[in-house]
Amino acid sequence: MALNIEKIAKSKISDVDFSNLKFGEIFTDHMFECDYKDGEWQTPQIRPYQPIAFDPSAKVFHYGQAVFEGMKAYKDKNDDIWLFRPDQNQERINKSAERLDMPAFPKEFFFEGLNELLKLDSQWVQKGEGDSLYIRPFVIATENCVSASASTNYKFMIICAPVQAYYAGEVRVVFADKYSRSANGGVGFAKAAGNYAASFYPARLAAEQGYQQVVWTDASTHEYLEEAGTMNVFFRVNDTLITAPTSDRILDGVTRKSLIQLAEDEGIKVEVRPVSRQEIVEAAKKGELKEMFGAGTAAVISIIQGFADQDQKFELPVMEDSYALRLKTRLTGIQQNKLEDKFNWTYKVR
Ligand SMILES: *Cc1c(COP(=O)(O)O)cnc(C)c1O
Repeated sequence: MALNIEKIAKSKISDVDFSNLKFGEIFTDHMFECDYKDGEWQTPQIRPYQPIAFDPSAKVFHYGQAVFEGMKAYKDKNDDIWLFRPDQNQERINKSAERLDMPAFPKEFFFEGLNELLKLDSQWVQKGEGDSLYIRPFVIATENCVSASASTNYKFMIICAPVQAYYAGEVRVVFADKYSRSANGGVGFAKAAGNYAASFYPARLAAEQGYQQVVWTDASTHEYLEEAGTMNVFFRVNDTLITAPTSDRILDGVTRKSLIQLAEDEGIKVEVRPVSRQEIVEAAKKGELKEMFGAGTAAVISIIQGFADQDQKFELPVMEDSYALRLKTRLTGIQQNKLEDKFNWTYKVR
């Protein structure tokens, strides 16, 4: 596969304070990009990370035709770099793209590009406890035309940001009963940029009430608990772990599916089925709701301390041997190549 590489003259890495990183604010020396025009993907390239110029009429600015991914790379004690289930992200960005009427990006380009980029920027993958490189592939519509139809031109890019363990502080959530992030037949299952834009306002209203996240409910009845902010959500009732099945409203998270498999492997009873707010409120009242947590690449697992269902507020117990901590330790251990990878999930960067 042809890939043009233009290296940076001098790395910016010595200017970076790796012990004091804000999530997703500092980017590595290089970026990967590939343009789609005349019905095909052109020769991909890696260039120094830099601003890119677009015509103001580029369709992404007007119609939000854009999809993205989020993944992480870890460095082990031998300085090998590992990705976690990258095939899942590669497939998912194309599923998202299809729903937004965008062309699929070739698998070979994705893996070659990512490998080369990570080799060039390998210094940026730190190996301290909790350190990783957050990888953001994305595709945007670049045709210069404001007619409301799918673009003829696109740009696929990968940018990378060194990050530290993500800790959101104490998290309390509110169950949504007015706004929705997705609907039947909609784009909720896709990592479409606009899903995020639409969630910011309800998230701000929740923040003004003292809640760090909204637990999204199904749009038609607001009775079923589907996702927590931009994460999948798990509940532990007594000793059973419960999470909603994926659907066209719920994003099929890599963290979610990995946690389900790990929990089952640990002998934890897992139920993948619709979870009603009524069930969770009743479990909380009876003291049977032991844990609630979000799952996603950035934070891996984000523990939820409390929740509000309309006017009722609940606090969750502080668990000594929580499923959240057990599963997070196991999952991050595999991701960092510290624990046995019995499911063959990790991918070594060449
Ligand atoms: C990205 C995302 C997740 C988590 O997916 P991972 O593959 O685990 O990172 C969950 N929900 C939504 C809405 C997301 O966009």
